[in-house]
Amino acid sequence: MAENKFNTPQIREYPVIPALEKEATLHLAPFKSKEEFQSSLGYPGELVDNWQEKALDKMGDLLKKYRSLRVYLDSCMQCGACTDKCHYYLGTKDPNNMPVGRQNLMRSVYRRYFTLPGKYFPKLVGAQDLTKEVLDEWYSYYHQCSQCRRCAVFCPIGIDTAEISMAAREVMDSIGVGQKYCNEIIGKVHKIGNNLGLPEPALEDTLEGLEEDVVDEVGIDVKFPLDQKGADVLLVTPSADFFAEPHVDGLIGYAKVFHQAGISWTLSSHASEAANFGMFIGSYENMRKLALRIREAALELNVKRIVFGECGHAWRVAYSFLNTLAGPFDFLDSRYPVPQHICEVTNDLIDKKVLNFDKSANDDMTLTYHDSCNVARASNMGGIMGGQFSIPRKIIKAAANNYFDMDEETIKEKTYCCGGGGGLLTDDLIELRVKGALPRMEALKQVVDEKGVTHMAAICAICKSQFSKVFQYYGLELDQIVSLHQLVGNALIMNKKEV
Ligand code: SF4
Ligand code: SF4
Repeated sequence: MAENKFNTPQIREYPVIPALEKEATLHLAPFKSKEEFQSSLGYPGELVDNWQEKALDKMGDLLKKYRSLRVYLDSCMQCGACTDKCHYYLGTKDPNNMPVGRQNLMRSVYRRYFTLPGKYFPKLVGAQDLTKEVLDEWYSYYHQCSQCRRCAVFCPIGIDTAEISMAAREVMDSIGVGQKYCNEIIGKVHKIGNNLGLPEPALEDTLEGLEEDVVDEVGIDVKFPLDQKGADVLLVTPSADFFAEPHVDGLIGYAKVFHQAGISWTLSSHASEAANFGMFIGSYENMRKLALRIREAALELNVKRIVFGECGHAWRVAYSFLNTLAGPFDFLDSRYPVPQHICEVTNDLIDKKVLNFDKSANDDMTLTYHDSCNVARASNMGGIMGGQFSIPRKIIKAAANNYFDMDEETIKEKTYCCGGGGGLLTDDLIELRVKGALPRMEALKQVVDEKGVTHMAAICAICKSQFSKVFQYYGLELDQIVSLHQLVGNALIMNKKEV
């Protein structure tokens, strides 16, 4: 582990609201995007000369386009119910990481330029000019929000700070101040098809290697098809699934499920990425362009269904927006929802008794489950109330004997972010990521100590990557995070000896 230039927060037995430390994380700002990546996304390469005028124009556009933004900026009562609900505030103690503090950074500018009292009596209504100093604060603190929406669950009027963060990032991109991590990744997907910039031959090699691994493990010729025309299912999955632990074990699990159920499926080299970072930067245009790749691949491969792998925000984009962004999908089999989550597919096959498990295969683990924010608070599964909570748990319990939930206040709709969502999963923000993980680490440590939990399962590529990194800061091992379909793959009874 690299030497810390910061202190990892102490795990507390009884979490309390921390005392404020003003500007504790003002210094934490991600690297800025280079000119080439800015321009490939249609943004200016660097801060434009008349940036203030342009930023206010953009803000005005967004206020017209998204009525919710104006409502959120107008209606906060400053009641304080959200103040201690953000993991970044709890981990950093910075008041600007309180959701209301974060909102006020934009609200003060909104009041100054878009409301009458703010124009004439700025000091009386907490309005401030959009100066370079304010812009720098925006850059820091709107990149210290993982857009997890936990605060919105507790706000009595449902103000969604995530939408304010997205709008702020969109304004900043429009004047040439974009974030390196997100914008480079979006550029790679536009150009190559996935976040990793993994070209088709490398992907083909990787999949062949996985086929060999599975034959060695179970003696069955489980296929990992690529660009297979006429397959029933197009699987769109995060590119992390192609190579990194524990993600790849999840991909092996999906392949075993399809094989055992006799469902023909394929990956696509054109749409070899489920992630859609367009959402993180608040850009509908980029989000749409990325989503269209999936439609093009489905048409090209003539599939009947589209299924998403384990990726939290990708499922949010798919569940909430895929039909609007890239629909209609009337060329797919109307007996299946568009899109479907891999957990819905597996759950359905369990209900139909197509899949059977030897749970003892996971007896070396005592499990808990981390609800990923975007799945928990911005999507559903199975078309049933709370399906996004019950279905993953049901699958884990079908595949493993030992399971305990973490504290009720930290799971399901109240789940804490892993600390790396919303486009913050970058090493230049490691201090923020470690500190923001504190509330989840505290809840996890509690079940580790009290219930003997050894592993945490998740269905989000960002969560899995984030935990693999930050566990070590809290005295846990990186392999204590597992993919949900890794458990499925371990325990699935595969009854056809084919090799
Ligand atoms: S959306 Fe999440 S990260 Fe952003 S302010 Fe709210 S609780 Fe914090
Ligand atoms: S809970 Fe809602 S109304 Fe209250 S301070 Fe927070 S955002 Fe404003």
